[in-house]
Amino acid sequence: RMAEDVARWRGPGRTSDGTAVAILANVQDGPSARTAAERQVEGVGLFRTELAFLNRADEPSVDEQQALYREVIDAFPAGKVVIRTLDAGSDKPLKFIDHGHEDNPALGIRGIRIAATDPGLLERQLDAIAAAATGAAEAPWVMAPMIATAAEARSFAAQCRARGLTPGVMIEVPAAALCAEAVLAEVDFVSVGTNDLTQYAMAADRMSSELAALTDPWQPAVLRLIRLTADAGAGAGKPVGVCGEAAADPLLACVLVGLGVTSLSCAAGAAAAVGARLGGVTLQQCRWAAEAAVASADPQAARDAARRALS
Ligand code: PEP
Ligand code: MG
Repeated sequence: RMAEDVARWRGPGRTSDGTAVAILANVQDGPSARTAAERQVEGVGLFRTELAFLNRADEPSVDEQQALYREVIDAFPAGKVVIRTLDAGSDKPLKFIDHGHEDNPALGIRGIRIAATDPGLLERQLDAIAAAATGAAEAPWVMAPMIATAAEARSFAAQCRARGLTPGVMIEVPAAALCAEAVLAEVDFVSVGTNDLTQYAMAADRMSSELAALTDPWQPAVLRLIRLTADAGAGAGKPVGVCGEAAADPLLACVLVGLGVTSLSCAAGAAAAVGARLGGVTLQQCRWAAEAAVASADPQAARDAARRALS
């Protein structure tokens, strides 16, 4: 029956009692965005722009960037597209950025931190996004990766607003989740990156298979950081999405909705399974599942408790 529900699922995303939860796709270029558009997703929750440039020896011109961003925007003429500024460094070094040597690249100059050493790179990217937004049916939103402080969010938001762009930031550093209220005061939306949030909360390399028991987004510590962020979003009346791998786990997606998350962005291939699971449970069941999962002692207990609450 589950397989049939998944095959039959059609967006938009909602709980069985009608609470809308946008189900969005993570994409990396025009072709992946067009494939996602055929899969019922309502838009793009995370466009990883750095992945489009992994093989580039030099920085793409503003015109080239504009064309690429416009391709992704045009794949969803009626849907929201969230463009993330370059998340270069650490596991995703770019050839046209001098990353230098770092003993701890995951804790080094990556994501928004590059703007401090090379401000022109971010300025040119925002110029290209603003140009791509001109004349688009739906204006894209823009978000910065690796934000740790409200001051970083403020500076990024000012640069976006100066270009008429709607700013948001990723919540993927525990400090930003703990200070979510102050961060949300600076921007119009946030999106939780559970991959890095888990890595940094648990002090466990996301690439290490030996540490998989720690890099599990069901860890109660991670769920508590997401709850802090969702509560701050509800208080500010601003959207809180999730765009890490956690959003691709149908059971965890229901828990995230119960915590107050307002959109889920995952690989396009996972969207139907998430949408079908969510469509079979009420918002109240999601809330019970979230409460039980957060109060659990470990990931397995959290999964079991959520499954009980949702059956
Ligand atoms: C994340 O960290 O969860 C995320 C969505 O970003 P990335 O996987 O690209 O680091
Ligand atoms: Mg990340």
